[in-house]
Amino acid sequence: MATPDFVRATLDDLRARDLYRRLVAVGSAAGPRVSVGGRTVLQFASNNYLGLAGDPRVREAAVRAIERWGWGAGASRLLAGHTDAHAALEADLAAFKGTEAALVFPSGYMANLGAVTALVGRGDLVACDRENHASIYDAVRLSGAELARYPHADVGAAAELLNPQSAIRNPQSRRLLVSDTVFSMGGDVAPLGELAGICRAAGAMLVVDEAHALGVLGPTGAGLGGAITASVGTLSKALGGVGGFVAASRDVIELLVNRARPFIYTTALPAAACEAARAALAILQAEPERRTRLLALADGLRRALRERDFDCGRSETPIVPVIVGEPSRALAMAAALLARGIFCPAIRPPTVPPGTSRLRVSLTAEHTEEDVDLLVRALVAARDYAQS
Ligand code: PMP
Repeated sequence: MATPDFVRATLDDLRARDLYRRLVAVGSAAGPRVSVGGRTVLQFASNNYLGLAGDPRVREAAVRAIERWGWGAGASRLLAGHTDAHAALEADLAAFKGTEAALVFPSGYMANLGAVTALVGRGDLVACDRENHASIYDAVRLSGAELARYPHADVGAAAELLNPQSAIRNPQSRRLLVSDTVFSMGGDVAPLGELAGICRAAGAMLVVDEAHALGVLGPTGAGLGGAITASVGTLSKALGGVGGFVAASRDVIELLVNRARPFIYTTALPAAACEAARAALAILQAEPERRTRLLALADGLRRALRERDFDCGRSETPIVPVIVGEPSRALAMAAALLARGIFCPAIRPPTVPPGTSRLRVSLTAEHTEEDVDLLVRALVAARDYAQS
């Protein structure tokens, strides 16, 4: 097959700017120690926050479900792909989130696409935090609504965008604010109470993305809430599996079933993924100590890093960025960590704003205090190496 000229030129340009990305294949099950290139490394690179991806009870639920349902769902949800397992998971998720209903999607990415595209369209406006996840930006583009970005966590600027006088030409048009509740590259938390307040005042809808809050934050681990209209979540992080969902009123969910193209036009998640998520959700609720331990580890890590003058931004969660500036510096530090047996990825633009390249540390409940100590010592050594 022929490769068009621009492909090589683009790749060369990415390499020249230290922005080239490559895949790293992991050769073992999810956990704090994984095999990479035949070597066991301590990893801080996954969102398996509660350690449920490899939990024997979750595995067993998946295996049992494969034996009952087979593997693939074979069709979209509105055809033959909807099973009792999907319905049961949706009931469990709605009960956990305290909403009337929930709807499962094949991924969190698609849940965001589905929620936004069903709620707004051409002529409408979506206010979006600058640091929202890429799937939310893609969702707004797909919807055809006007994208209005506000500076990160700037409630005043968001209110201005939603103001009917300044934003809207057509009184029929809808306004929606979308925000991550935990920002995936900074680990900081959105000002949800204030965002809900400005949405109410402006008569706007509010959708929150709880991908990194679910299982981690909130009194029961259900996330931070704050949504007026819908809450998006994923089964792929704390729940250790795959899939996404939207939790909302029954009517909003009915609208999604009828209008959300990323729900309608794709094959259903396998029933086994649903059963695994149900098992993980039960463990998440029965074992709150996983969450407590994880948050305590994250507090300890931030304290240790700040004492050593690392910039962890405004992290308040198990996502702890170590902000170093230029992509080349982040790459050099990641390579120095790997040389010491620690896998912690460098995150560069466009995933984060220019000048804020970073190592993104994500902790899980399976890490130990000793693991965190090893990381801190390795980061100090990597910083010295990158400065030399
Ligand atoms: N929202 C946020 C904030 C995320 O970080 C992610 C995953 N990176 C997603 C949505 C997408 O979830 P999934 O991986 O289940 O597609």
